[in-house]
Amino acid sequence: MGEAPNERESRTDSSALNIVQNLERVRARIAAAAAAAGRPAADVTLIAVSKTRPESAVRTALAAGQLRFGENRVQEMAAKFSRLRAEQPDLRLHLIGSLQTNKVRLAVRLADVIETLDRPRLADAIALAIQQEGRTPTLLIEVNVADEPQKSGIPRDAADPFIEACLHRFGPALKGLMGIPPPKENPAPYFAWLAACAHRHGLALLSMGMSADLEAAIAAGATQVRVGTAIFGARP
Ligand SMILES: *Cc1c(COP(=O)(O)O)cnc(C)c1O
Repeated sequence: MGEAPNERESRTDSSALNIVQNLERVRARIAAAAAAAGRPAADVTLIAVSKTRPESAVRTALAAGQLRFGENRVQEMAAKFSRLRAEQPDLRLHLIGSLQTNKVRLAVRLADVIETLDRPRLADAIALAIQQEGRTPTLLIEVNVADEPQKSGIPRDAADPFIEACLHRFGPALKGLMGIPPPKENPAPYFAWLAACAHRHGLALLSMGMSADLEAAIAAGATQVRVGTAIFGARP
């Protein structure tokens, strides 16, 4: 026996309601953290990380006014968002997962912001794709802020020359830095390091802070936070 239509409806509603309430909570956390840091809340942009979530969850967040979304994988971004993009011209997409060179062309076609530029060969591929596609996403360089071997991102001691080279190559399209501190450590020193590095290079955007540590990131100067579980719940 199938479930009664009204039963299914109420279940859908309650999960949609959760997303809407969670979004409000996250916005309130951002506003409080910004206020505590003496910054306007409008300085901090919320990226809703919708990886592994269905299109329906994105639609719920969109209906609640959330227009920016982050995805880790180019193909998932393409599958989930091509229709939504056509329907909602104000939608903006951030690619936040590490990018293989063979996916770059699609990434440059789809993403408004690529946050994971982290090596010279990827810079080459992005520059070529920008020419081929006639479209230039905003670029952020990902720095491996704790030099963790298993993590992507340019190593810290290679960051300065790489940033300079990318500024030379991409000009104003290169707008900032992204970083992820190691889990279970105090993230503050890593956020501070990334902020100082961006400042040194005159880069305005700082993508740092997730569900667990967005307050510390905002205190250190984050201009965008990437939040998944605090909005959509624990990932399967
Ligand atoms: C998944 C992911 C996030 C969101 O993490 P949550 O802890 O779910 O908020 C942010 N940034 C990147 C790069 C991610 O891969």
